[in-house]
Amino acid sequence: MRIAMISEHASPLAAPGGEDAGGQNTHVAELSAALAALGHDVRVYTRRDTAAHPRTVTMRDGVDVVHVPAGPARALPKDALLPYMPDFGRWLGAQWAADPWTPDVVHAHFWMSGLAALTAAGPRGIPVVQTYHALGTVKRRHQGVADTSPPRRIALEPRIGRTADRVVAQCADEVGELIRLDVPRARIALVPSGVDVARFTPKGPIALRPTARRRILSVGRLVERKGFDDLIRALPLVPGAECVIAGGPPGDALSTDAEAARLLDVAASCGVADRVTLAGQVAAADMPAWYRSADVVAAVPWYEPFGLTPLEAMACGRPVVAAAVGGLMDTVVDGVTGDLVPPRDPRSLGAALRRLLGDDLRRLTYGAAGHERARQRYSWLRTAEQLETVYAAATAAITPEAVAG
Ligand code: UDP
Repeated sequence: MRIAMISEHASPLAAPGGEDAGGQNTHVAELSAALAALGHDVRVYTRRDTAAHPRTVTMRDGVDVVHVPAGPARALPKDALLPYMPDFGRWLGAQWAADPWTPDVVHAHFWMSGLAALTAAGPRGIPVVQTYHALGTVKRRHQGVADTSPPRRIALEPRIGRTADRVVAQCADEVGELIRLDVPRARIALVPSGVDVARFTPKGPIALRPTARRRILSVGRLVERKGFDDLIRALPLVPGAECVIAGGPPGDALSTDAEAARLLDVAASCGVADRVTLAGQVAAADMPAWYRSADVVAAVPWYEPFGLTPLEAMACGRPVVAAAVGGLMDTVVDGVTGDLVPPRDPRSLGAALRRLLGDDLRRLTYGAAGHERARQRYSWLRTAEQLETVYAAATAAITPEAVAG
């Protein structure tokens, strides 16, 4: 099939770790590569955010990345991109009208990409598959007035879901959220994201550990909702352990990052400043070595549509302590591959971490079970094969077998 991926803010070529670059970038890159490996012809359309990029870059055999001229050719926060989506959609439509390369299916990532996709594909009768990656209603519920999304997101998101031919939920919890938005149940397919099980493995290089302390690692964009401050607040309950947080701007730019400063303040006020390290952005290629350096990996966001980092840790054979939210409730099996704790609860988190760090056998068995689970159930090949079924169903306008039950 000829598959157009629309990922307005998240380029598969960008380095994850910054404020607006994370899971969606990884997801689009890995999924596109897996679909190409299955023989499909993939084009990823992302907004041109620098004049330095050529119009089209070949990412790998079978995957081209096209930089769409919509809005200024410079980096903008994703919450500022809505005004440029009509141009993005019109440009795509004109492109597909003029070019012999017209997609068989369009897969939009994030709600704004959905708008552009429907503008371009709708009039041409090309089916549109929508993955939200995050829902405005959930974000608003948790972030309240701190949510910087365009106010129209709340009204537009359900309309996109009701217009698209198929909507992909990434976890069981999201299926419920979509149904509450009145997205027809029969059009929802549950397809989890994946992990590169050839790269994220238990064996391989290990990042340096300068101290003999037990290491708790947490990975993600440095944004408040990732719950890193809860992890720091839990540290007094875990004597002797160090907490390493990977993500955010590159190490030399951390000193000017507001969230990094806030986290260091929290560490100082909890009396654990000497046991907290902010590592800054880690290159995607180095991530497996960082996971391997950890005794336990913590992922305690307030909410999480899918959550790649605990899955990456599991693939590396590391035990996980995760908040019982969103996708983490599907990937982490409580008492088997890790421990689930209530979100925003440093006391429960501290107790779980202390217990796990004091139990070598439990860590080993969690790690082994996590590795097996990631390998068996969450390879990108499996994700790509499940999406093939969704694309085929959208194209044939029939109900997929994999609809949420
Ligand atoms: N990541 C990275 N370097 C960093 C921080 C994060 O490569 O310094 C990657 C991480 O390995 C994962 C992604 O960014 O693949 C984060 O995805 P997740 O789903 O956990 O969070 P999101 O960014 O979608 O909120």
